[in-house]
Amino acid sequence: MAELEIRNVSKRYVTVDGNSFVAVKDASFDVEAGEFVSIVGPSGCGKTTLLRLILGLDGDYEGDILLKNERIKGTSLSRGIVFQEHRLLPWLTLNDNIGLALLQAEGTKEQKKETVARNIALVGLGGFEKSYPHELSGGMAQRAAIARALAHQPSILLLDEPLGALDAITRMRLQEELWRIWKYKKVSMIMVTHDVEEAIFLSDKIIVMNTNPGRIVSQIKVVLPEPRERSGAEFGAIRRKVFEAMHDNAAVVIESEDNYSI
Ligand code: ADP
Repeated sequence: MAELEIRNVSKRYVTVDGNSFVAVKDASFDVEAGEFVSIVGPSGCGKTTLLRLILGLDGDYEGDILLKNERIKGTSLSRGIVFQEHRLLPWLTLNDNIGLALLQAEGTKEQKKETVARNIALVGLGGFEKSYPHELSGGMAQRAAIARALAHQPSILLLDEPLGALDAITRMRLQEELWRIWKYKKVSMIMVTHDVEEAIFLSDKIIVMNTNPGRIVSQIKVVLPEPRERSGAEFGAIRRKVFEAMHDNAAVVIESEDNYSI
């Protein structure tokens, strides 16, 4: 049994003029426990829509979304989220921002303090506990957002273009950080990204989507030696595969480890 099962999920939006259109059609994929899955595809293909459904922000869809074999109902602390913007509260310190996220969590004050400290250390922000968001760089603020999302020990972490607002150098450093954090926490992650290289660098599996209607056109397993080398021939071969899938509108291909060859 996979950690998360997306089964024949379709989502239809009704527009202001009363018409409806299909934003996601018949999407199915699995996320195994501890797996890193990326969703890539052109703007408007339904990536964020799919993530919102998994988060539980919208229950109006067809199909099934099962977490540990149970249909998801609304939002839950078992599904953490990191957005492109850090969404830290500007009037609270880093410590208090993460502490606030634990308000409803079980545990004593001391235990929560320890959880906050542990997660701040995990993302490499030790020493900045008393800093306010405006005193943190963009990359540091995104690390803080990751720490806040992980503080609840979610069984799955959703990332919606988490590094999309960062400059290229910071983005690459944060990709390495995210990889390290994922390896350490062993938590399942689903990341929406526009950046195919980012997806290949981080993922076990890449879900490729396309538009008209928004749908999954390919699922590509990424099997590369670790730590991953962006410049290698194998990396380049997977990049070609992803771009081919994105540009081949007709194809619906499920790549498996068995038929994956480069
Ligand atoms: P992506 O994240 O891949 O860019 P989205 O999931 O944001 O795509 O959007 C998929 C399609 O659904 C787009 O055509 C978008 O305009 C439309 N859409 C998204 N949210 C809504 C909404 N709340 N109401 C109507 N249409 C929406």
